[in-house]
Amino acid sequence: MAGEEGTSLLPPESLVETLRRLSEAAGVSGAEDEVRRAIVEQVRARLRPGDLLETDTMGNVVVIKRAQAPSAGGGEPGPAPLVMLAAHMDEVGLLVSSVEPDGTLRFKKVGGIDDRVLPGRQVHIGLKRVPGVIGARPIHLQKPEERRRVEDASNLVIDIGADSREQAERAVKVGDWAVFATPFVRMTPRRVRGKALDDRVGCTVLLGVLERAYPVDVAAVFTVQEEVGTRGAAISAYRVAPDLALVLEGTTCADIPASEPHQEATRLGEGAALSVMDHTSIAHPALVEQLVAVAERQGIPYQWRRTTAGGNDAGPIHVSRWGVPSASVSVPCRYIHGPAAVADLGDLQAAIRLVSAFLEQLPHNAPLASVWQNGHEQRMRERAWLRDFSRRG
Ligand SMILES: [Zn+2]
Repeated sequence: MAGEEGTSLLPPESLVETLRRLSEAAGVSGAEDEVRRAIVEQVRARLRPGDLLETDTMGNVVVIKRAQAPSAGGGEPGPAPLVMLAAHMDEVGLLVSSVEPDGTLRFKKVGGIDDRVLPGRQVHIGLKRVPGVIGARPIHLQKPEERRRVEDASNLVIDIGADSREQAERAVKVGDWAVFATPFVRMTPRRVRGKALDDRVGCTVLLGVLERAYPVDVAAVFTVQEEVGTRGAAISAYRVAPDLALVLEGTTCADIPASEPHQEATRLGEGAALSVMDHTSIAHPALVEQLVAVAERQGIPYQWRRTTAGGNDAGPIHVSRWGVPSASVSVPCRYIHGPAAVADLGDLQAAIRLVSAFLEQLPHNAPLASVWQNGHEQRMRERAWLRDFSRRG
């Protein structure tokens, strides 16, 4: 038993490889094609007969994993509850807004990026991964007062080594997207570094959860455009009409010496993080209570997210249709929205275990606990598309 416990503390190597692939794939909000292809490939390897995989008009990837009747009970599968699990595939990045006569590129930020992390940063532009560097005047050429000032991103340019607009336009064009050029690194057996860990850690948790069967229907949604206003989640929550939802996120972690203890949102290595509230939603108390109970029962490490800043896909999901009881399970990540974040693989595995154990203890047949039973019949009607699909399956 102790041995089993030991091996379950870190994710299998194959899943760390998956995280590497997802972290290194490009997927700025609105241009998620590359990371979506990588996710779909991973999902296909986990589908069973009767499961459904579709990509909607915005680019969200929706996977319906049908409930497996518990072997003890057997019998006809009933109107199993549908649980939506959401992780966003997009990342913050840059958008090329003009090609200047001297061959440099002006850009706009996509999503929340701190201007201070930009100067001197290496980037990859477009699917051809044209290498560039965000130009910064060397310290020797700056006046003392300039050295203390943060350059506004609108004054910065990307240098791709071109000498003229014509030369630059042979490699890039206005409307191209740029991502941080950050290779994924396993720093220690537990710690990894990479770009876009917000939210490729959540996508990896979701893929890990999809490896098992559950007594409920699961709608695993890899959403788009979270970083520009949780837009993909809004339409997928409407389409899926779930009975309840869990959002899987990479969340802020500031346990580094530069922060005051009261500013520490989460601590790396202390388990999956549960939130009570952020700027876009308040987690459903009954759902949080049940997550805590499951974690306590199974000895799964968890911690509280001790800040209310930020928002995630739970925002639009919990106010979709008649309301969807929602909560977030997060993996702490240091330096999110920067060029390289750091995460703990033990936290990632704790999130997989917590979400899996939570799903396993849900009832196969309605009724669910009364708090989310309300509206189940209405939601079943809205899920006609899913019932049709189930009959085909
Ligand atoms: Zn995120």
